[in-house]
Amino acid sequence: MQICFASHNENKVKEMNEIMPEGISIVGLKELGVTNEIPETGSTLEENSQLKANYVFEKYAIPVFADDSGLLVNALNGEPGVYSARYAGSERDDNKNMNLLLDRLSNHSDRSAEFKTVITYIDQKGASKQFKGIVNGIIAAEKRGSNGFGYDPIFQPSNYDETFAELTQTVKNQISHRAKAIYKLLEYLQLNHG
Ligand code: IMP
Repeated sequence: MQICFASHNENKVKEMNEIMPEGISIVGLKELGVTNEIPETGSTLEENSQLKANYVFEKYAIPVFADDSGLLVNALNGEPGVYSARYAGSERDDNKNMNLLLDRLSNHSDRSAEFKTVITYIDQKGASKQFKGIVNGIIAAEKRGSNGFGYDPIFQPSNYDETFAELTQTVKNQISHRAKAIYKLLEYLQLNHG
């Protein structure tokens, strides 16, 4: 069976293909011929991952899953949330995003936050299901570490002394929001399409 992963990132598509159960192959947006960015006009991660999955299902009528992730900071009412990639402007600058977040948080004593991934899966009959992965932590006082991407240098997961950017990719992949959501999707696919 073929499932579309609604992503333009060919590395992500390849990685997904490698971890899928036998009998399931993953195609990315490029292979389907989707060249445009799918509009992400929702105000939550749930809405945006649903919008992306709907877009592909309505156009191609094949099973599809789409993910959307973000960092939600409690003292900032869930900011940057769906706007994580472009928090400090449209150019997706990780450093500017982190600086803005540290700045906005500077007067707050509550530094708790969560990284969250929402995956929406639509099966061949058009039924939708969402899988969520959350990792709790705090926003560090300053950037530490150079691994990873995005907000990794300022996110310190609960029960760890290191930020995501100080942990190895292997450890991050075991505990991350994305890993948790993907694991739930895999379990579901194994039970339902094995
Ligand atoms: P996406 O939905 O996976 O593209 O994530 C949207 C944005 O959230 C990214 O551009 C990052 O700014 C942030 N983000 C999501 N996941 C992570 C992560 O694991 N580490 C750091 N930043 C992340």
